[in-house]
Amino acid sequence: MLTGRCLCGAVEFTCESASTEHNACHCDMCRRWSGGGPLFTTHAKDVTFRSEASLGRFASSDWAERGFCKACGTPMFYRFVRANAYMMSVGVFDDTSPFKLTREIFIDKKPEGYSLAGDHPRWTEAETLARMKS
Ligand SMILES: [Zn+2]
Ligand SMILES: [Zn+2]
Repeated sequence: MLTGRCLCGAVEFTCESASTEHNACHCDMCRRWSGGGPLFTTHAKDVTFRSEASLGRFASSDWAERGFCKACGTPMFYRFVRANAYMMSVGVFDDTSPFKLTREIFIDKKPEGYSLAGDHPRWTEAETLARMKS
């Protein structure tokens, strides 16, 4: 069982497991939401929130919502609604040591001003969307 929380602690969660291999998304929405950088997320199973009282949910598209703390604003997750699949922000876990960046998505949306090191797949928007549909 893994645990995590937002910056202020009003939103706490547990999950059964999470992939140690995580994404970095450079899409316009993720960069705006995160405050400028890419959003690091990882697929988590059986996510449970201790209370939904401080958890905000924003429908950012027809197929997904983004969860955040209403008190401190921490971006908690991106969720595929129909599949009920939670992509948790990597930084909200209490122990972030197991996580490793293994994929960048929407690489063609990344501004020139920063780049991430490492030898891993970098998918364009078209490549990312093709794989999300399959
Ligand atoms: Zn908070
Ligand atoms: Zn994104």
